[in-house]
Amino acid sequence: MGLFGSLLKPKLFRSSELVGIADDAIQLALQASEDAHPNEYMGQLRGQDARKVGLDREGTVITDVLLAPGTKTTPTSAEFNPSYMPNDLDSVGSVHSHPNGVLRPSDADLATFSRGRIHIIVGAPYGRGDWRAFDREGKPTDIDVVSVDVPDEQFFDFTQADIDRELR
Ligand SMILES: [Zn+2]
Repeated sequence: MGLFGSLLKPKLFRSSELVGIADDAIQLALQASEDAHPNEYMGQLRGQDARKVGLDREGTVITDVLLAPGTKTTPTSAEFNPSYMPNDLDSVGSVHSHPNGVLRPSDADLATFSRGRIHIIVGAPYGRGDWRAFDREGKPTDIDVVSVDVPDEQFFDFTQADIDRELR
């Protein structure tokens, strides 16, 4: 294969490779899903450049989970309506919960997974391992949970006057 093979390798993603999901982001999705129970939770996954969050890797890390505006959450309707998803580069995919605990995409889910790179399904009882990631075809896919170092701006929010005071 060599060089020729790698040239023929299809480019899977328009933008950079998906490195993983931040531990905080998946915890937030699990918590939000538990809070919504017995209704469904639905949100949008957003990514950032891995290097910006302290990882020595090339690619995108999912760092944020946003509640989808106007989402209807009922215990039975599993419909995923991706029309809310803005077509911006930060949007990586979706996350939604299955209050019945079944970690498999429904037919309705599959019909909409083509939008976005990765789709996470969270299920009751919403423990640390009660979620699965799927690709756009609905195949289970592995995604690493990573610890990211998103700087807390409070700690860095000092002014030149503060520095001068320290140096005096
Ligand atoms: Zn579903």
